[in-house]
Amino acid sequence: IPRMSRGLPVKQKIPGVNKILLVASGKGGVGKSTVSSNLALSLHNLGKKVGLLDVDIFGPSIPRMLNLSGEPRLSSEGKLLPLSNYGIESMSMGYMVPPENAVVWRGLMVMKALQQLLFEVQWSNLDYLVIDMPPGTGDTQLTIGQQLKVDGAIIVSTPQDIALIDAVKGIAMFNKVNIPILGLVQNMSYYICPNCSHESHIFGTEGAAREAKNHDLELLGSIPLNADICVHSDSGKPVVMDPKSVLSKPYLDIAKRVL
Ligand code: ADP
Repeated sequence: IPRMSRGLPVKQKIPGVNKILLVASGKGGVGKSTVSSNLALSLHNLGKKVGLLDVDIFGPSIPRMLNLSGEPRLSSEGKLLPLSNYGIESMSMGYMVPPENAVVWRGLMVMKALQQLLFEVQWSNLDYLVIDMPPGTGDTQLTIGQQLKVDGAIIVSTPQDIALIDAVKGIAMFNKVNIPILGLVQNMSYYICPNCSHESHIFGTEGAAREAKNHDLELLGSIPLNADICVHSDSGKPVVMDPKSVLSKPYLDIAKRVL
């Protein structure tokens, strides 16, 4: 139950976590979870202690991206112990409930699950907790905005205008609940041909930069549309964990910018 002050919840830190970063998007399928996992692993590659928290109750992707499954064990204090792979800790409803069971949950159960994910995980003194948000601006976003002391939000968007317009709604919400926005990540922004490595800027090069500027936001980075990113994510080994891949660089640059 959140602590209250004058009828409003008090923003709290998460035990065992120094900084909290949110990764958000206006709509689904823009690559938010791919950015979250590659960003978390890039922060780890920069020498930080990192956790990745998936608060998408209805569509958890982090178990698949980190190739993790199985029920979390409980600590002696009855807290959830995170699962670990590739050097980072993670927690997700997907470890506890098959997604097909969670979809029938009503609001109250979702909110209970969210409280447990936010405040009842035993993280081990993390420098950064990256939170993979559900898409859009629903109850989860509002609850997190009201209850958590968030250090910054990263908005992921694809170059198409419609995605940008959705993302902008998210920006307004974060401003309302006083969450600083670190900037915009443009995903699937240009295409790298797997045969000849030619870069093709299908959607133009200026859309995200213009949108970022219009809202006084920093453009944290642009990530190409590339089959390797997809194959790695979907097979449970994010691309930044492949030492041979040149695709680590855009994620690493974003990680350095949000440090
Ligand atoms: P979201 O979390 O926004 O719903 P995901 O991260 O699950 O999106 O990505 C949706 C799909 O797109 C996944 O199959 C993922 O592997 C793929 N994907 C994400 N980013 C890229 C990219 N830059 N290039 C190619 N495929 C990508």
